[in-house]
Amino acid sequence: SKVPPIILNNGVEMPQLGFGVWQVPDDEAERAVATALEAGYRSIDTAAAYGNEEGTGKGLASSGIAREDLFVTTKLQNGDQGYDSTLRAFDASLGKLGLDYVDLYLIHWPMPARGTYIDTYKAFEKLQADGLVKSIGVSNFLPEHLDKLIDATSVIPAVNQIELHPHLQQAAAREYHAEQGIATEAWSPLGQGRGLLEVPAIVAIAQKHGRTPAQVVLRWHLQLGNVVIPKSVTPSRIKENIDVFGFALDTEDIAAISALNENRRLGSAPSEVN
Ligand code: NAD
Repeated sequence: SKVPPIILNNGVEMPQLGFGVWQVPDDEAERAVATALEAGYRSIDTAAAYGNEEGTGKGLASSGIAREDLFVTTKLQNGDQGYDSTLRAFDASLGKLGLDYVDLYLIHWPMPARGTYIDTYKAFEKLQADGLVKSIGVSNFLPEHLDKLIDATSVIPAVNQIELHPHLQQAAAREYHAEQGIATEAWSPLGQGRGLLEVPAIVAIAQKHGRTPAQVVLRWHLQLGNVVIPKSVTPSRIKENIDVFGFALDTEDIAAISALNENRRLGSAPSEVN
């Protein structure tokens, strides 16, 4: 594969760039995933809540790519938190995906007011011990949630997948993750394509390198060390978003993008989803 891996805290390799399928309808997911795999992506990010695990699984199967060359992430949906319900929900996800293991399983949101994420994560530890999940992690966890989780369980999460893009750079979370050995995975890495890709500083850097704004934003993430999972259903954009390994931003470019932080979320705040 043309995407270099990062090494997770359990020694497992994860491609630093993957393909996200949020908001891709189930009956379009097969084609989108197939297009991405043809373009060279090997990591796919879905979730039970996206309702497209079946279509995603069909795209994986029809590709003919060997299972060990794929990296499949799915997420436990909020309503299924709890020890027994997690085991049942995982089984359903695995069936829909048509797989016999997943590479990475994430708790989609912490839902701190419900107080169920520790029991949920203990079920994740069992799934990992049983070989059904290679790596376990979380999504949308704040450092305070991770502190509690790490105190009460034995496996440090491999990944925390959080909203992260030039308008929401998450410096404190990234630093905390680095101290704990947790990989930072950026969701909505392109800021959902809304506005961010027209920001003059980004357009100027793109022109300087003869690249597109999306490619510049993805390079910024990669050079910071983030895992990225851009989404598109447009074949030309799917290809464009993985064609980011033949150029590099210089320190001036990185500084100009780092100056764009506004601490502005597009999605929900982690503690507000319950
Ligand atoms: P994104 O930042 O990847 O933006 C996707 C949108 O940007 C596309 O729909 C399109 O409109 C535009 N776009 C994509 N490529 C482009 C290009 N080359 N040029 C111009 N415009 C382009 O947004 P996203 O889908 O929200 O996030 C990516 C993935 O992250 C999701 O698909 C999902 O897998 C994951 N995610 C996870 C969570 C979570 O709670 N864990 C939440 C949101 C998203």
